[in-house]
This record gives sequence, structure tokens and C-alpha cells, in this order.
Amino acid sequence: MNLIAYPNDGLRQLVEGYRRFFNGDPVRRGFCAIHAEQIANTQAPHSMVVSCFDSRVCPEAIFNTNDGHICVHRNMLNQIDQEDFSMMASLRFAVENLKVQNIVILGHSDCNAVAKLQHLEELTPEIRAWLDRTHTSYRGATLEEAIKNNVLDQLDHLKQIPCVAQAVQARGLNLEGMYFHIHTGRMERYNAVSAQWKFISTEEK
Ligand SMILES: [Zn+2]
Repeated sequence: MNLIAYPNDGLRQLVEGYRRFFNGDPVRRGFCAIHAEQIANTQAPHSMVVSCFDSRVCPEAIFNTNDGHICVHRNMLNQIDQEDFSMMASLRFAVENLKVQNIVILGHSDCNAVAKLQHLEELTPEIRAWLDRTHTSYRGATLEEAIKNNVLDQLDHLKQIPCVAQAVQARGLNLEGMYFHIHTGRMERYNAVSAQWKFISTEEK
């Protein structure tokens, strides 16, 4: 395993799965009974993905995972909200029981939820209530910039959760921000060291 490129084997699997997705070479042929039987007795996902609920963004397909490889939690704006018990229960179980190696916040181009942050007053009460509790705001000269900034805000929220911070410290739990381009299938990954977004190479090794 190339530890310089990947902090752990789970992230290598995510990136290599993404490349298979991009290049139209999926190993996943669709869920059927034979897969269910193969994974029935184990659950050892390497990563948890927190994704926007946009129907055009399907983490299992984008990372070309087989069943049992990733846990997915989805909500509008891919937000980390400590007062959301559903989110917190899933997160805690993934970190402490399943001991995932990575948590990925997955934003995407054209995110209507981020665009709506500019017009909260126009929304129905339920949607406004949810978007209003994001502890993020529309920041950026373009929608793409605002969406990426929201991913970074959610990563910050993640780091403030005690069980996450503890796992980062104790066993190197890796936190990632990614941005999926719906129109091209390309993916960018945030590099915290250089503070830059960079496209993931789509070349299969
Ligand atoms: Zn979205």
C-alpha cells in the first residue's frame, strides 16, 4: 500500500473504486441474493460517507463499493449537526463500534441546498428549519466555492465531536472532504496540508 498517497487502506479502496466508476469499469453488478449471502455474517466497513441527499449523488455507485464496505448517512447539505440524534447515533456507531478508518463529507456541484442558503425566507418551514441549523452560511464568489466552503464547515463540526476527536487522536481516524462534479463525474479532494482542492486522478494503476 502506498501510504504517501493514502493514509489507510480504506481510502485506497475508495479512490480506486472511484476510478473504476469514472472509467466505466464497475465491479459492482447490482445487489442480488448471492451478495446478501456473502456478507450476511460480517459488517466491517472501511469508511463512513456523509452525503447530500441529492438523488444524482449516490456514494455506493460513485465509490464503486460492494455491500458492506461503506456506511452512508445522507441529509440535505451533507451537514454534521450534533443535535440531530439520527446523525449522531450513526456516527457514533460507525466510529466506536465499526471503527471506520475514514469519514468523508461528500459535497457536490449544483447543490440546491447550498444555493438556498441565500434565500432562506422563501423556503417552506421544514426546509428552512433544517438549513437554518447548519452553522454554515453562503460564503464564496461562486456556487462552487460556497459548496466547497460548506464541506469545510462540516469537517470542522466533525472535528469538534468528542468521539471523533478522540478516534483521530488515538487511532488515526482520517477525515476527508470531497466534491463530486455531477456533470463530468470528476471528483476533487481537499488537501488540508496545502489548503487546496485537487482533482483525483482518474487513471487506473
Ligand atoms: Zn446537495
